[in-house]
Amino acid sequence: MRFDVITLFPDLVKDSFNYGVTGRALTSQKILLNTLNPRDFSNENNGKVDDRPYGGGPGMVMQPEPMIKAIRQAKSESKNPYTIFMSPQGNIFNQAKAEELSDKQHLVIVCGRYEGIDQRIIDSEVDEECSIGGYILSGGELPALIVMDSIARTIEGVLGDADSVKTDTFSDGLLKHPQYTRPESGSYGDVPEILLSGDHESIRRWQLKQSLLKTRKNRPDLLEIRSLNDEEQELLEEILREEQG
Ligand code: SAM
Repeated sequence: MRFDVITLFPDLVKDSFNYGVTGRALTSQKILLNTLNPRDFSNENNGKVDDRPYGGGPGMVMQPEPMIKAIRQAKSESKNPYTIFMSPQGNIFNQAKAEELSDKQHLVIVCGRYEGIDQRIIDSEVDEECSIGGYILSGGELPALIVMDSIARTIEGVLGDADSVKTDTFSDGLLKHPQYTRPESGSYGDVPEILLSGDHESIRRWQLKQSLLKTRKNRPDLLEIRSLNDEEQELLEEILREEQG
């Protein structure tokens, strides 16, 4: 997978990606990360890339030419580039979208700054606008890093244990069960006894119940759209009975 990020702050993107799982993915070349700075494509001596908005209003807007030149250069690196603009006006990014995008071989990710970018860049170059949530950030770099990190995790060989992806929250439409590690007990509490029992079937059922419990508490919207199998239905009814006392 190749990422080309169009950004005024290339070091912010490259440095932040170069840690832990994503850093190792770069070293092992499972992922190639390149950045292009629109300032390098500006015709003005001082590398200016923004101007005041037509029609008035606060702030500055990123101009089309430097951005489009940078995007086109990035696109020329492969036969099938797919271009995303990180934008609070896009569809909300989620795990399903991460998995969908991980099928692409080459993603060009455009980061806005200031008041945003000239609409003609979006109209002529962008395949999809992606938002990371219903709030405004100062630039598209953090959203781009979030998108790239979540995509990277789904790429074969990036995680040491491939099962991590299969058991993560959202992988089966539920939140993951609580997890514990050594020590068995402390002033902050004990590990649930069932996890020390060695009874794999009881542990699996307990974890599934905890998963349903946590999803019902923190993300009931996920339960509304997920169909439950017989065992899950039974456990959910058990949870409801326990809640009612
Ligand atoms: N004036 C723009 C608006 O009202 O839609 C917001 C511009 S914002 C200050 C600057 C840049 O940050 C955007 O162009 C976009 O690239 C990025 N950005 C801000 N919030 C974002 C979000 N929730 N998701 C993705 N990108 C975001």
